[in-house]
Amino acid sequence: MSNRCYIGLGSNQSAPATQLYRACDALAALPQTELLSCSRLYRSAPMGPQDQPDYVNAVALIDTALEPLILLDALQRIEQQQGRTRKAERWGPRTLDLDILLYGHQQISCDRLQVPHYHMCARAFVLYPLAELDPKLTMPNGTTLQQLLKECPAGSLEALADLPAQG
Ligand code: ATP
Ligand code: MG
Ligand code: MG
Repeated sequence: MSNRCYIGLGSNQSAPATQLYRACDALAALPQTELLSCSRLYRSAPMGPQDQPDYVNAVALIDTALEPLILLDALQRIEQQQGRTRKAERWGPRTLDLDILLYGHQQISCDRLQVPHYHMCARAFVLYPLAELDPKLTMPNGTTLQQLLKECPAGSLEALADLPAQG
């Protein structure tokens, strides 16, 4: 069985664009998983602590047979392989953040995993790249991506470059 999953990518350390290209390669190399597409790269202002560099963000679409928590484990391994160190500070600088935004139309709520990602509906750096991949996307609760975009100004979000699917 395969599931279409959208993964949010972010980095603001150690050559962020390169981190995202590497992460796309790592997603493509996951077992039982195919990388279907990836948005352009976007620059966004940091959330939370402001004394850190801007972020580079993107969204990737994968087709995977990995179960949600197995996929989360795999994403966290990729984060670690690319030098992510988890600190107490929320939303602090990081080499790589990989979040599961959507997992098919499933709604998942357990200690380690909430899908749809709990705050994606209010994040321009998630919604605008998502719209590039599928402007007609609908959330599991029926809300359309277009409705969410109307309520979420792009602000300082800026598209940077094309990200080839095979990195
Ligand atoms: P935010 O979640 O606000 O984007 P963050 O990505 O910086 O912040 P992390 O430190 O990467 O947060 O993750 C903290 C925990 O969030 C992870 O250990 C993971 O168990 C949990 N988590 C819950 N839902 C998700 C999800 N949909 N995707 C990834 N991690 C999730
Ligand atoms: Mg995140
Ligand atoms: Mg995360």
